[in-house]
Amino acid sequence: MRKAIEIAGIVQGVGFRPFVYRLASENHLTGFITNTEAGVSIEVEGPAEAVSAFAARLPQEIPPLARITSMRVEDRPPNHDAEFRILPSRAGEQRRVLIAPDVAICQDCLAELLDPSDRRYRYPFINCTNCGPRYTIVRDIPYDRAKTSMAVFPMCADCQREYDDPTNRRFHAQPNACWKCGPHVESWDSAGRRRESADPVAEAAELLAAGQIVAVKGLGGFHLAVDARNQAAVERLREGKRRVEKPFAVMTATLVEAEKLGMLDSAARALLESPAHPIVLVRKRQPEQLAESVAPFNRDIGLFLPYTPLHHLLFAAQRFTALVMTSGNVSEEPIAIDNADAVVRLHGMVDYFLVHNREILLRADDSVLRVAGGRARQIRRSRGYVPTPVFLKQDLPPVLAVGGELKNTVCLTRGREAFLSQHIGDLENLESYKFFASTIAGLKRILEIEPQVIAYDLHPDYFSTRWALEQQGVKLVGVQHHHAHVASCMAENQLDGRVIGFSLDGTGYGADGHIWGGEVLTADYASFDRVAHLDYVAMPSGAAAVVEPARMAIGYLFHHFGRDFWDLDVPFVRHLDRRRTEALLKAVEHRLNCPLTSSTGRLFDAVAALAGGRERVNYEAQAAIELEAAISPDEQGEGYPFAIREEGGGWIIDTRPMLLALIKDISQHVPLGVLSYRFHQGLVEVLGRMAERVRDHTGLDRVCLSGGSFQNQFLVRRLEEFLFAKNFRVFTHAEVPAGDGGISLGQAMVAAHRDS
Ligand SMILES: [Zn+2]
Ligand SMILES: [Zn+2]
Ligand SMILES: [Zn+2]
Repeated sequence: MRKAIEIAGIVQGVGFRPFVYRLASENHLTGFITNTEAGVSIEVEGPAEAVSAFAARLPQEIPPLARITSMRVEDRPPNHDAEFRILPSRAGEQRRVLIAPDVAICQDCLAELLDPSDRRYRYPFINCTNCGPRYTIVRDIPYDRAKTSMAVFPMCADCQREYDDPTNRRFHAQPNACWKCGPHVESWDSAGRRRESADPVAEAAELLAAGQIVAVKGLGGFHLAVDARNQAAVERLREGKRRVEKPFAVMTATLVEAEKLGMLDSAARALLESPAHPIVLVRKRQPEQLAESVAPFNRDIGLFLPYTPLHHLLFAAQRFTALVMTSGNVSEEPIAIDNADAVVRLHGMVDYFLVHNREILLRADDSVLRVAGGRARQIRRSRGYVPTPVFLKQDLPPVLAVGGELKNTVCLTRGREAFLSQHIGDLENLESYKFFASTIAGLKRILEIEPQVIAYDLHPDYFSTRWALEQQGVKLVGVQHHHAHVASCMAENQLDGRVIGFSLDGTGYGADGHIWGGEVLTADYASFDRVAHLDYVAMPSGAAAVVEPARMAIGYLFHHFGRDFWDLDVPFVRHLDRRRTEALLKAVEHRLNCPLTSSTGRLFDAVAALAGGRERVNYEAQAAIELEAAISPDEQGEGYPFAIREEGGGWIIDTRPMLLALIKDISQHVPLGVLSYRFHQGLVEVLGRMAERVRDHTGLDRVCLSGGSFQNQFLVRRLEEFLFAKNFRVFTHAEVPAGDGGISLGQAMVAAHRDS
């Protein structure tokens, strides 16, 4: 019997052909395997049972990095080959193949790295077909050494032999290298001058142990590293980076060391050790083991494990067990990837550089996830995941979606695949704009997608919007921000038809020109209706209110109580500067620089300022994160009452009764943990009631939860439980971020459906 098997997916550059070769040999089959445009093509011939056994085992036993998206099996007439062979791939036939993401060093390579008898002992760039760089070293397709940043390192005879041997773990491993032929590391001083050093890695470990700040060139960019137990060093890093309180991620030597710092369950452990080796947010273990300023005022900590050979070598010196490893940049700029550029941009922040001469072609930050409800959920999807596509339910025309303004990503679609870019970041500086534009160009090139449609956010001032509107010869489709969130959740869950969508976040441009963010929609991909939203409240002095939650609290108090709020007997009001506040109120009355908002994030800000005194924040959503962290874990019972009133054919979620109950509790000195619980629980209850009303009116019973506010664990878990109990079907995000990092996917879906 002879069968032909066509396989599409991530099957090139991941050891797939040697795997198939071994499997065919074990089953004594003849035939061949070759790379094709979409994946691989296999023909096998032999006794029927052997062929069936082969076809059954193949999808079960694929190499760790491979991913099959489709497999087609057909009968063929016998050909009586003498053996099973790996045929060379013909040029131009591998263009639609999926490039694998970057992968943490595998166990086999790690063993060799630390084995004094191995020829790659302590070689910082050891890799094989099961591990190592992929996406970040690609210049163009097909994925071949000549089209990667390894092109400048011709392989030595030993490496070439491994590369050519189908039975070898390094068969066609494009970044294959060794001490003799591959890239190397160097130690530089803070001015970028090369320092003589017999072992730059061991030396860097000593410098770190001595409290120095070392910039370490990694897989997707530079890290700034310091000993996480050295308070002075961590503080110096904060000053240099101009990062006041935003938590730093910590890399620990081993999983055992990670357990000492954070509460890990089996899902978190599995995620930490998964091929992507992302940063995983977990609850901190108390008492804290690290320098206080690693993650101040935070209940959680971001942990990750060493993922490059270089990281392992730094820890192998056994001079420390935990390093702060934060991206090498000034606050919100993109991470530095180029040696010379790093010396300029990180000037004054860094004592030493540990650089190497393997170029990083595509920048990729560390990915950040957390486990919630037993599932790994993306917060920042980047290294280790990109460019693996999100698989869609139906074919789409080629669309480019350019995302939002904060936590920007872009998305390109091709058939049933949606390629979300790596995290690009906040588009508020020149470096980010360049990164944005080069990411689009790079993805178009390696995916060979020429979009016919470009989708953008309705906000006229977003950089991404302005960029989109300058493009010629394509159809341009504006997509409302919160509709994009819901569509993103639908796409990830492969839904079609119409759903109820809760779209809760900090900021998004509304169809009426106001700032939305507490939205209940009914939506399909092509259209949406806004059926309910949080009451509009003025945002005193606009954007300044985002960094000063106290302004939002004043906005809320004035909205509901007018000047009577001065009589409220709560510390927040007593401590207000009367003259400054009155000036602010005048501005609200005259609607000067006071946009209206229905934002959930701003409601959290107002409550946080009233209840807990967080009057200024240093990073986005800080007040909301701290308010969630404050919830008393054992608290039960009902939440604060919110009202629902009808207005203009829809509903308004009225915050007045909630605010009254909150103020009463504050004046009676109810502790913050209880206040926070009652606020969160009240929000869950009113959203649950809202869903029931919408179901009564529309018959819809599927609910999508999207938007940055659903990174709040309490909110997502409790609301899910509430809705399940009322027989709703509930859909949340996992593979795609709930926050603005996910909206490009939703924009693409909406634009594609408006197009047809
Ligand atoms: Zn390996
Ligand atoms: Zn070599
Ligand atoms: Zn948003």
